[in-house]
Amino acid sequence: MTISKNLDEIRKSLDPSIQLVAVSKTKSNQEIMEAYDHGQRIFGENKVQELTLKQNKLPNDIQWHMIGHLQRNKVKYIAGFVKLIHSVDNFKLLKEINKQGLKNNLVINCLLQIKIASEETKYGMSIDEAKSILESEELQSLNNVSIVGLMGMASFTNDQDILIKEFSFISDFFNSLTTSYPKIKILSIGMSDDYRLAIKHGSNMIRIGSSIFGLRN
Ligand SMILES: *Cc1c(COP(=O)(O)O)cnc(C)c1O
Repeated sequence: MTISKNLDEIRKSLDPSIQLVAVSKTKSNQEIMEAYDHGQRIFGENKVQELTLKQNKLPNDIQWHMIGHLQRNKVKYIAGFVKLIHSVDNFKLLKEINKQGLKNNLVINCLLQIKIASEETKYGMSIDEAKSILESEELQSLNNVSIVGLMGMASFTNDQDILIKEFSFISDFFNSLTTSYPKIKILSIGMSDDYRLAIKHGSNMIRIGSSIFGLRN
């Protein structure tokens, strides 16, 4: 029951234009089904193996998002069903996703993950790298991927000034792209502890785990 209650609590405060990704990593199929039965359809996972196991067992109308670091040699396992890959952090990975998209006769939606946190552990590319991908001629020939937005992960801190700085950084970049790149529509920022602030900075896709499913072990 708590999962449904938590979902209601979060939805109450959300504008309908904001998509909620329920981050179900480490959580059981039973817990995911509680959210599903309460109307949730978008789920995010950060490990390929866990994602494919769950996708195999759970209802077909779930929209699975890959939100964690993705190795090129594992793209093939998720290419046939993944709805959105949030974690594209280099051009080689994008090219591999395109190759697997072609094999599956699909166009795979991707977000470029931008490094916004100062912590060394956070993946992501710089704004310059993102620009050079978007401006490259080679991108025009990748017909089986579509870059539909940006993703960022803020520092693990309660310091509002740092979070504001990081969210502003990615949202300014996002806003600078939307006129030249009309396909870029999604700004995926905000997790359990910082999603309200992320929404104030233009987030339209939040990734919430522990506030829905409880703390992870
Ligand atoms: C785990 C995870 C989340 C969700 O984190 P919570 O703090 O539990 O809401 C969001 N995004 C990514 C990339 C994650 O790995």
